[in-house]
Amino acid sequence: MDTDVIVIGAGLAGLRAARELTAAGRSVVVLEAADAVGGRLRTDRVDGFLVDRGFQILNPAYTEVRAALDVPALKLRPFGRGVGVRDAAGLTVLVDPARHPAAAGRLLRSPYLRPTQLARLAAWAALPWERLGDQPLAASFDRVRLGGPLRALAEVFLAGVLADSRGETSAAFTRSLVGWFLRGTPALPADGMGAVPAQLARGLDVRLRHHVDAVTRRAGGVEVAVAGRTLRTRAAILAVAPADLGALTGRPAGPMRGLDTWWFAADAPPSDLTYLLVDPERRGPVVNTAVVSNVAPSYAPTGRHLVQCSVVRDTPATEADVRRHAAFLYGVPTAGWELIVRHEIPHSLPVMAPGGRRPDPDLGGGLFLAGDHLEGASIQGALLSGRRTAAAVAAALGEGEGTA
Ligand SMILES: Cc1cc2nc3c(=O)[nH]c(=O)nc-3n(C[C@H](O)[C@H](O)[C@H](O)COP(=O)(O)OP(=O)(O)OC[C@H]3O[C@@H](n4cnc5c(N)ncnc54)[C@H](O)[C@@H]3O)c2cc1C
Repeated sequence: MDTDVIVIGAGLAGLRAARELTAAGRSVVVLEAADAVGGRLRTDRVDGFLVDRGFQILNPAYTEVRAALDVPALKLRPFGRGVGVRDAAGLTVLVDPARHPAAAGRLLRSPYLRPTQLARLAAWAALPWERLGDQPLAASFDRVRLGGPLRALAEVFLAGVLADSRGETSAAFTRSLVGWFLRGTPALPADGMGAVPAQLARGLDVRLRHHVDAVTRRAGGVEVAVAGRTLRTRAAILAVAPADLGALTGRPAGPMRGLDTWWFAADAPPSDLTYLLVDPERRGPVVNTAVVSNVAPSYAPTGRHLVQCSVVRDTPATEADVRRHAAFLYGVPTAGWELIVRHEIPHSLPVMAPGGRRPDPDLGGGLFLAGDHLEGASIQGALLSGRRTAAAVAAALGEGEGTA
């Protein structure tokens, strides 16, 4: 045997699994096809800007983030706790009244916070599982008769979080994500979201530019074909996204949802807010936008400003559409903004279908799965999956040694 465990894929799930197994005394090699660790969570430096590969935020309330990461070392820069809403009446910031009691009177007059609709949203959040059942998000909102501006606001906000404009995602999964938003204040690491996988990878044996071509179960282990060689291992973890899983297992690729992020550089900040801005009336394709450098100044060189505009890929958008909508959202001209890069990511998030069951990570014969598609389409889900799969692998290897 070349090693106890080979992990295929250095995304969050694979790195977490590798860390856990290494800490348990196993020999672990991580094989990653790309030129850096992180998978869907990477940061590039472009013309002095830090640009995440698709706008993402880190919720420090995620229990797996706290368990797996040195959070203070990430130097988190928090978003404002609330959301900026642009509509025909102008821009309103809906802040968390628990943290901004002075705003309570203004909030009560907002059309988005009518008591009846707020009570219905609270009912949606609190409905016991057995009564909510699992159904598409839109149907679950119908069920509690959520409507009006608050529903429009919830839908556009969640479209950006779920990469789903149609409300087809599991209501149960959506509620769990909303719960995390209520518990924590999302943030950006000062060095970019790529700091998260960089921290996880420290000290591990990660081999970059190692694309695995095949995995084959053999008596007593697994053969991994990579770069013209065959490595033998007692267990292999397929920590690749659902879209790439088919190539290794022969099963159909798992469906995923897409997001595009347009990153613009501006000479003047279009707003001094640190909130996500949304347009519940959806005058254009942008589901959320933020002046990222207001949140984390390290994302832009001195004197310049970085703006992200996110679009769900099920709504095709041109650059002109995005600039026009951003101009409405910020109330400033955007023609002078420089487009730094546009990330088109068709495979952003695994589809979280209503009624979906958590698959068993143990495929048998020494092969295991890890990834956000097992535990939920999020950083929390990916890290949790890595930990659970590591435990399953450790148990299987322990049995092989007769140690129970
Ligand atoms: C645009 C976007 C926005 C998001 N926003 C958020 C957010 O705000 N909050 C949040 O919590 N989550 C967000 N997510 C989700 C989060 O990034 C993912 O859930 C998480 O990164 C998935 O990690 P993973 O390890 O499961 O998979 P991946 O990151 O996909 O890792 C799989 C790895 O396997 C490698 N690989 C594939 N095939 C092979 C092969 N044959 N050989 C070797 N290596 C291979 C890939 O190169 C990759 O590195 C977002 C994702 C995207 C793309």
